[in-house]
Amino acid sequence: MKRIVVKVGSHVLSEQNRLAKDRIDNLVEFLADLHKIYEVILVSSGAVAAGYSKLKIDKSKLPNRQAIASVGQPYLMSVYQKKFNLYEILSAQVLLTADDFDSRKRTHHAKCAVNTLLKHKVIPIINENDTTATEELVFGDNDQLSSRVAYYFDADMLVVLSDIDGYYDSDPRVDPKAKLYSKVASIKAEDLQIKCNPNHTFATGGITTKLKAADFLLKRGRQMYMTSGFDLSDAKNFLLGSVQSGGTHFVKERG
Ligand code: ADP
Repeated sequence: MKRIVVKVGSHVLSEQNRLAKDRIDNLVEFLADLHKIYEVILVSSGAVAAGYSKLKIDKSKLPNRQAIASVGQPYLMSVYQKKFNLYEILSAQVLLTADDFDSRKRTHHAKCAVNTLLKHKVIPIINENDTTATEELVFGDNDQLSSRVAYYFDADMLVVLSDIDGYYDSDPRVDPKAKLYSKVASIKAEDLQIKCNPNHTFATGGITTKLKAADFLLKRGRQMYMTSGFDLSDAKNFLLGSVQSGGTHFVKERG
C-alpha cells in the first residue's frame, strides 16, 4: 500500500479567527476515502487558530502564541476525532520538533511509532510541538516539517493542500495574468530566496516554504503535489482517479 502525507495549511482550517468546521468535515471525508487505498499521515496546522477562538490574547508575542497553541491543539484533535468517528477511523496526535529529525536515533523512534499506528489503520495527525520548540530549532512552518515527515517516514508523496490551487509563475493574488505550473522538475535557487509572503493572520509559510519543501523532496527522488484545500476536486482526481485536472505536480522527469 502506498504511503502519503497530506499537509493542510492554517488558512484552509480557519476562518474569521476560528476553525472552519465545514472545510474540516470535507477534509476528513476525503481522508477517509484516501484511507481505503493509502496509508495516510496528516500534518495539520490550525492549533493557534483553534486556541485563539478560546483564549484571545496577543498572538504576536511568542509565549502567548505557545500558550494559545497549547489550548488549541487538544481542541483541534477533538474536532478531528469527532469527524473521524463517522468513518470509524481512529486518529492519533504526534507532536514533533525540528530536532526529532536531527538525530538518527530520534527519527528512528518517531518512525517506529508512526509505522505502528499505520499498521493498525490509525491516522497519525502531526504538528510541530509549538510549546517546546526553541527559536533556533524550529521549522516554524508545517510545509518544511511535512517534507521531513514524508522523506524520513518513507512516504511516496507529499500532498500540500493550500489556500491557492498550485504554484504560479508569479503571485496570482497580485498578478491576474499569472500562469499555473502543472509540472515542476526542479526549483531554481533564486526562487528559494523569495521573502516569506503568507497572506493570512495564522499562516506562517507562504509560497517560499512550499518551494523549500518541494526542493527537499525532489533532491531526494520524492514527489510533491500542491493544490487547493478549499475545493478538493483536483486533489480527489489526482489521488483517487490518477488524473491531474489541476494543481502542481513536483516530480523529477524520468529519463
Ligand atoms: P497555507 O496557509 O496554505 O500554508 P500560505 O498563505 O502560507 O498558505 O501560502 C500561499 C500563498 O502564497 C498564496 O495564497 C499566494 O497568495 C502566495 N503566493 C506568492 N507567490 C505565489 C506563487 N508564485 N504561486 C502561488 N502562490 C503564491
